[in-house]
Amino acid sequence: METKRFQKNDGGFICAHCGRDVPPLKTTSRDHCPYCLWSIHIDINPGDRACGCLGQLEPMTAYPDSKKGYVIVYRCQKCGEVRKCRAALKGNEPDDLNLIIELTSEQFPYQGHK
Ligand SMILES: [Zn+2]
Ligand SMILES: [Zn+2]
Repeated sequence: METKRFQKNDGGFICAHCGRDVPPLKTTSRDHCPYCLWSIHIDINPGDRACGCLGQLEPMTAYPDSKKGYVIVYRCQKCGEVRKCRAALKGNEPDDLNLIIELTSEQFPYQGHK
């Protein structure tokens, strides 16, 4: 099924995982859901929409980054690719920080994993 329920543009999108209406972040283009943190495999580089996979990106773990706040590590449920994404902690409807902190305790061998 290749239904494009995850419509992404500067005006926000409907989360493909939890189904919530995600408002635009305003500061930068948002690439994941602030409520469940799931994302979609749509970009090769952030914002380019160049990836045709469209699998759901499951948040596996997260770690603090001195420059970026938190980085969330995702794995695509469809193709298995591991991606990293900066958490959005500022702006309109920021990410759920409690969820991110919970993720930091998850062990996921993202290093060395293809
Ligand atoms: Zn969601
Ligand atoms: Zn994928």
